[in-house]
Amino acid sequence: MFVRDIDLIYTPIPERIARLQEVAYNLWWSWHSEARDLYQQIDPVLWELVYHSPTRFLREVRQDALKAAAADPDYLEQYDAVLAAFDAYMSTEDTWFRRNHPEAEGHMIAYFSAEFGMHESLPIYSGGLGILSGDHVKEASDMALPFVAVGFIYPQGYFRQRLDPSGWQNAEYPKLVFAEAPATPARTADGDEVVVTVELPGRKIYAKVYQIQVGRVRLLLMDTDIHPNSRQDRELSARLYGGDQEMRIAQEMVLGIGGVRALRRLGLAPTVWHMNEGHSAFLTLELARERVQQGEDFHAAMEDIRHHAVFTTHTPVPAGNDAFPVPMIEKFFKDYYPQLGISREEFLNVAHQQQSWGPTFAMTVLAIRTTALRNGVSKLHGYVARGMWNWLYPDTIRDEVPIGHVTNGIHTASWLAAEMRELFDTYVGKDWERNLDDPITWDTVKDIPDAELWAVREKLRRRLIRFARERYNAHLLHNNPNAQPPAVLNDTYFTIGFARRFATYKRATLMFKDVERMRNILMRADRPVQIIFAGKAHPADNPGKHLIQDVYQMAFQHGFQGRVIFVEEYDIAVGRAMVQGVDMWLNTPRRPYEASGTSGQKAALNGVPNASILDGWWPEAYNGKNGWAIGDEREYMSPEEQDWNDAQSLYVLLENEIIPAFYDRDEDGVPHAWLAVAKESIRTCAPQFSMRRMLTDYMNQLYIPAALGSTR
Ligand SMILES: *Cc1c(COP(=O)(O)O)cnc(C)c1O
Repeated sequence: MFVRDIDLIYTPIPERIARLQEVAYNLWWSWHSEARDLYQQIDPVLWELVYHSPTRFLREVRQDALKAAAADPDYLEQYDAVLAAFDAYMSTEDTWFRRNHPEAEGHMIAYFSAEFGMHESLPIYSGGLGILSGDHVKEASDMALPFVAVGFIYPQGYFRQRLDPSGWQNAEYPKLVFAEAPATPARTADGDEVVVTVELPGRKIYAKVYQIQVGRVRLLLMDTDIHPNSRQDRELSARLYGGDQEMRIAQEMVLGIGGVRALRRLGLAPTVWHMNEGHSAFLTLELARERVQQGEDFHAAMEDIRHHAVFTTHTPVPAGNDAFPVPMIEKFFKDYYPQLGISREEFLNVAHQQQSWGPTFAMTVLAIRTTALRNGVSKLHGYVARGMWNWLYPDTIRDEVPIGHVTNGIHTASWLAAEMRELFDTYVGKDWERNLDDPITWDTVKDIPDAELWAVREKLRRRLIRFARERYNAHLLHNNPNAQPPAVLNDTYFTIGFARRFATYKRATLMFKDVERMRNILMRADRPVQIIFAGKAHPADNPGKHLIQDVYQMAFQHGFQGRVIFVEEYDIAVGRAMVQGVDMWLNTPRRPYEASGTSGQKAALNGVPNASILDGWWPEAYNGKNGWAIGDEREYMSPEEQDWNDAQSLYVLLENEIIPAFYDRDEDGVPHAWLAVAKESIRTCAPQFSMRRMLTDYMNQLYIPAALGSTR
């Protein structure tokens, strides 16, 4: 088990810069680069070693380095400016929430998610769902919503990806050293630490509640790796989506039921309960149990609870929805349904879904039945979800199935390159961030001089290539300490980025469908092209791991050397470097399996146009001038035919439009036609696919109605 209850031993910090400690414990630093700079510049080498974690940094930094900083007038000037900005952020009364929803004062939104992707140094996320939750919490802070987030600590939640010399993915599970994370025990008003219990078959499980401060918002994380629990239960939250179904149901009980109990112990009474994906859906049962214990009837209580509950579904793939076999539910809930005052049959009926292998208790069904406000995560996904769950509404046509959509967005400040921010400050206007979801704000993107935008784009590409080479060399040396890393990548070549989870539907190898044609595209002497790949496969997903291996080995094929590379360990840091540094973002899912996707939104914001299948968010964004659409807006009966047609479409676009535009330069080497696409991509995507726009929609369509307890 890991160390956490020891006293935190810190290098004493000189009084003049003592608030470095306070800032380290508020993830506000994770979206303010000038705050991170305060740590980094004290010792840049250590900053890399601690993987950009201010709390770890302060534990390990040398005393003389801190003293030197405290005596450096330039440093102190920056320090004072950052602290002033931090104080202003934390204390301002002029907030989005106050301006727009004064009537909702006194309400509170509780947001439940199984993972939170806040920063690369805090490995409590696995992929897209977690990144979205992390961005959601940060924006809730920026808008000053009355908001509390609930999740899990996974001491080994996260696996490190290592590729062997054949490109086969192996997983390593480094332990999160909790004492080094920016978390503190959550405390009641009386100052007591909070431990909640949940009944499992034959035992109680204890979860200690920690909190992480994210700007103005609190993120509560439950941890089962504590003393009274059995060894097995201590490992319960060890891994995210690991383990067997019994572990999973127990995790989901701790998240949903334990999460409600944690909020109660902290004296919180949310009026809006948001389940981000079905993992937390037990929470509405717990809310009903509270009221049945007060003497209410289950059905009457649930009817009221439903109207305060919001459910967001994320997966368009039936197998992606959790469903537990009935005997397992009986084992885990037989003492629980009496507390709801209902029978076993009534309980099972709430979430009944017949599968080919038998009757199940399905978390998505539970979530749909116990919420009145439901949404998918893009317009297309809303439509797909209405089709998937139409069977729950047998008397309703698909279009009237009560599942709407709010298209996903990204937290702008977390993904925007500092150099792009400077351009926006200068040309889009000092106030752009205040009105960042207003399309009018972005009309001024056209005023950015092409030469300046191009200089930034080239700088960001060079930075990415340096980063990718370092990672790639470290990977080769890890497998073979005597390796002579070859020269890879070129600072000036057209650079395509492809980074995502390696699930088969994402079709990472689509561009190699016709290998000779792709080779010709990459190798043209006058228009060279290179591709940077990154992405993990779920440790249990062998087909996904084979795809990684295929891409990895492709890189060693004749003609591809140095132009196709795979960067190990896709995480927030790799993602950030890639969406900022490549020239074009490629997305080739098999339509309609990409519920939304957000990585392309991050790229677009940075002036990196997308070439994408018309799936997820892209059909809403694509306007013919802000990037490229691969294939047609249709589905196919035959996946083979779909792959072939989409690959042909991609080749034609690359050969005839994309690459020529990139290499068409004026006498100063500036590609004006290319930059027109880049600017159009920023102008159209920055506002519409921002987390600000997304949360504004959540407020108007879901949170405010839920707060008032009304139906959609
Ligand atoms: C943005 C992001 C994702 C989600 O991107 P998709 O477009 O859904 O693939 C996943 N992982 C990381 C590290 C990210 O930054």
